[in-house]
Amino acid sequence: ITSRVTKPVDSSQLDNIKNIILVSSGKGGVGKSTVASNLAIALAADGAKVGLIDADIYGPSVPTMFGLIDAKPNARETAAGKTLILPIEKYGIKLLSLGFFADPNQPVPWRGPMASNAIKQLFNDADWGELDYLIVDLPPGTGDIHITITQSFPIAGAVIVTTPQQVALADTRKGLQMFRMPGINIPILGVIENMAYFTPAELPDNRYYIFGRNGGRALASGFEVPFLGEIPIVQSITEAGDKGAPIALNLESPLAAVFSEIAGRVA
Ligand code: ADP
Repeated sequence: ITSRVTKPVDSSQLDNIKNIILVSSGKGGVGKSTVASNLAIALAADGAKVGLIDADIYGPSVPTMFGLIDAKPNARETAAGKTLILPIEKYGIKLLSLGFFADPNQPVPWRGPMASNAIKQLFNDADWGELDYLIVDLPPGTGDIHITITQSFPIAGAVIVTTPQQVALADTRKGLQMFRMPGINIPILGVIENMAYFTPAELPDNRYYIFGRNGGRALASGFEVPFLGEIPIVQSITEAGDKGAPIALNLESPLAAVFSEIAGRVA
């Protein structure tokens, strides 16, 4: 994709970032953070310089998914006297999460403007350096954070994650419409259908469409946006995420190839 600057840039820290890509979902729990993390890893495995911002204020998952529960980013001072947060680097990816700045055992009762300011700092006051892709894991739904990010930064496009379930699809439609609203107008790079089907180990030729069949594909064609691929329900995806080493790192897993193909369609 070619980066389309949709909004004025208000920070020099972003000058060397080629593409800011949002990963969005209508509902929580559909695997948005799982997809964002594995997509970042698959893009990096392909040789790209990648950063990941976890903007999910309600439940930041990046610290867990990257095994960085107790990590605290350092800062450095620029020659001009500005303090810059240093993203934490793991698996070759530069990471920042609001979770790094909060006690993981305490809920963070953000008010809208506070959360928006905190998010802006992760973009503007961080030492991102040169990146081919900065992936942004958005909170679910359509809220303050979405407005802040889409209005404040030059976004190349949004990737939409859904499960094939009707209730998820209904909310995903709203999310898609938000990106197309005048004044927001972010290109939609495509839809990823997560938890598309389940195949039990003892019945390797069977596919069970637990949440319904082809819902994400149908949604993509209804909105005339690309269908980027489907990801099955696999226990190792959850286990790898919980362990702090997303499945796409395991190049022997067929799932690494699935994420790599999806990354190829996004790139
Ligand atoms: P979201 O960011 O949309 O809230 P998460 O990425 O945190 O969702 O995923 C929710 C839960 O589902 C996590 O425990 C995650 O490991 C699990 N999960 C996500 N995608 C899959 C999948 N394809 N197969 C199995 N488990 C998955």
